[in-house]
Amino acid sequence: MPEAILKIKNLKQHFPIYGGIFMKKIGRVYALDGVTLEVKRGETVGLVGESGCGKTTLGRSTIRLYEPTDGNIIFEDQDITRISQKQLRPLRRQMQMIFQDPFESLNSRHTVGEILEESFIIHKDGTSSQRKDKVRASLERVGLSPDTIHRYPHEFSGGQRQRIGIARAISLNPRLVICDEPVSALDVSIQSQILNLLLSLQEELELTYVFISHDLAVVKHISDRIAVMYLGKIVEYADSNSIIEQPHHPYTQALISAIPVPDPEIKRTKVILSGDVPSPIHPPSGCCFHTRCPAARNICTKEVPLLKDYSPDQQHQVACHFAGEVNLV
Ligand code: SF4
Repeated sequence: MPEAILKIKNLKQHFPIYGGIFMKKIGRVYALDGVTLEVKRGETVGLVGESGCGKTTLGRSTIRLYEPTDGNIIFEDQDITRISQKQLRPLRRQMQMIFQDPFESLNSRHTVGEILEESFIIHKDGTSSQRKDKVRASLERVGLSPDTIHRYPHEFSGGQRQRIGIARAISLNPRLVICDEPVSALDVSIQSQILNLLLSLQEELELTYVFISHDLAVVKHISDRIAVMYLGKIVEYADSNSIIEQPHHPYTQALISAIPVPDPEIKRTKVILSGDVPSPIHPPSGCCFHTRCPAARNICTKEVPLLKDYSPDQQHQVACHFAGEVNLV
């Protein structure tokens, strides 16, 4: 079994809130509240959940775009949680990110060649002509003509711009790529092309992905394992088939019930959750899902359910006091 490339242990990311005329600290946003997760080398772990559940924060904290409040991030057996930015710099080329909106993440005043060459310049990688060769190779690898290096981002379609974003992320041969909603801004017809590109690059370059999306149907297509997040916590984590076929957490069951079924003969109960996701400034007591859970009982308002192995092979973790008893779909 491949070893873990990334271990996240009890990670907390609390953002302070300042207010009043003296801009004093008046509260905090509990964006991540004790996340533990392992990602094995070469696999794709999908992070799924509604907007505001903490999945993007988890992706960004993992590569230290935020300074974590507590917990540990271990990458390639090295604890990187509190190392300095200087110590982090050589590791940055091994951990890259693909962003949701390629247009926003690409500098519109620079040509594609300049945008892609920048990573090599920052990491002092090669001479000018070697860098340009590498830029052309990166473009070809993502299915774009090397002749496009002189063009600007606005001259490309959304799908092509995302290919440029992917070329930038893979150009330095990273080990881990955080893909933050990489297809959400694209037409459905283009989404599958980008997903297939990510899959072929993964095989070719032996990449490990953390794939973030609010869309469980997309996550299921690309992920080996899926972590379902709710209000800064992981509530269920298992291999994709297990999660889709035997979801144990009521929230996962609700997400799955919303995936359209292509076969009209198959009937599935749609679980409608009442209310909105509570504010991460004032998360509910006990189980964070109890305010919307159709199966909630008294204990759920008082005791936090721990993420525990549920299956005999210890590969299916669920945080619910009644895992295995609840079936909403
Ligand atoms: Fe629902 Fe209770 Fe399980 Fe939370 S612990 S998901 S409230 S049944």
